[in-house]
Amino acid sequence: MLSKRAKEIKPSPTLTIDSKAKAMKAEGLDVISFGVGEPDFDTPENIKEAGIKAVRDGFTKYTAVGGTDKLKDAIIGKLEADNGLAYGRAEIIVSCGAKHSLYNAMQALLDPGDEVVIPAPYWVSYPEQVALAGATPVFVKTLEADRFLLTAAAFEKSVTGRTKALILNSPSNPTGFSYDSEALGRIAEIAVKNGIYIISDEIYEKLLYDGARHVSIASLGEEVKKRTIVVNGVSKAYSMTGWRIGYAAGPAPLIKAMTSIQSQSTSNPTSISQAAAIEALTGPQDSVARMAAEFDKRRGRIVEALNSIEGIRCIPPTGAFYVFPNTRALYAKSPVISSSSKLAMYLLEKAMVAVVPGDAFGDDDFIRLSYATGIEQIEKGVERIRAALQAL
Ligand SMILES: *Cc1c(COP(=O)(O)O)cnc(C)c1O
Repeated sequence: MLSKRAKEIKPSPTLTIDSKAKAMKAEGLDVISFGVGEPDFDTPENIKEAGIKAVRDGFTKYTAVGGTDKLKDAIIGKLEADNGLAYGRAEIIVSCGAKHSLYNAMQALLDPGDEVVIPAPYWVSYPEQVALAGATPVFVKTLEADRFLLTAAAFEKSVTGRTKALILNSPSNPTGFSYDSEALGRIAEIAVKNGIYIISDEIYEKLLYDGARHVSIASLGEEVKKRTIVVNGVSKAYSMTGWRIGYAAGPAPLIKAMTSIQSQSTSNPTSISQAAAIEALTGPQDSVARMAAEFDKRRGRIVEALNSIEGIRCIPPTGAFYVFPNTRALYAKSPVISSSSKLAMYLLEKAMVAVVPGDAFGDDDFIRLSYATGIEQIEKGVERIRAALQAL
């Protein structure tokens, strides 16, 4: 019955762990989850009010497929102010989340036979979305010693005559590291030289620590801007994951094609959410700084706690809300925890702590923990991990 495409697609592994943890919680078990990929804060009040007002005002009908002009203008203003990027309305599309913008971009850009370079560890949806477009993911392993950043040399080595695009994610999920402008410049040079497009997922740009500054690779020059699709959204910065608003900025012909694809699938993103997103982007920004400061505190605590466990090494990341500790030294301790997925399963069953195995992101030597949870939960959870490992 099922199409080849449907048979080949893998459900999101991060959601799988999360749903098992949720099922255990529903049974009344006291599970601590480091599995979640969304901020635990409430959507700021001014943004909620804008959504409520949209409902009251009857702003509840279809909008233009690629988003309202008013929201596009708010996005244009944001890209100009935060990223030094100038775009017109024809170069912007609003979708049902950044994930949807990424999906539209792959569908509009890729043909069967095309290769897409994906630095590993990677966000789980990239390879699946590339495959859904019929193209081939080409993984390039990055190293912990390089803070999991793609080097220009490794990128250049992966390029073939069929390389159509590179996917960059800075700050990164799952590693939490981000690129500075020098590193991006070297990558941009290779992309431009070889006529490669760059899909730049910048969804975590507002969550940076230790003085790290976000740079969009598109801002490094006209040549690279012409080849870049910047993807961003309101989910992570404004704690709006359920509102489903993301966007992309890029060359007008590509945005037009993405809009046509969207017009035959979802049509416009929710009108009410678009109104709320305008408030998010143009209203007071103090809640963003507050959430980032709280994440920063938790980051310090979780890194310190994990590093005090024998067999775990966690270099402090500079962005997002994930740590990606090296757990390889543990695998030799017992066959029960001899891989990242066995370790994750053991921790869920024995310690009632949910983490995501690194093999879901293309590197078995690590696990991912999200610190989008309170400090007490972090301390209790890491203590449980310690106790469960000592029990082996
Ligand atoms: C959460 C996330 C997204 C998707 O965000 P939505 O706007 O909620 O679809 C995209 N990329 C990465 C790396 C993410 O972690």
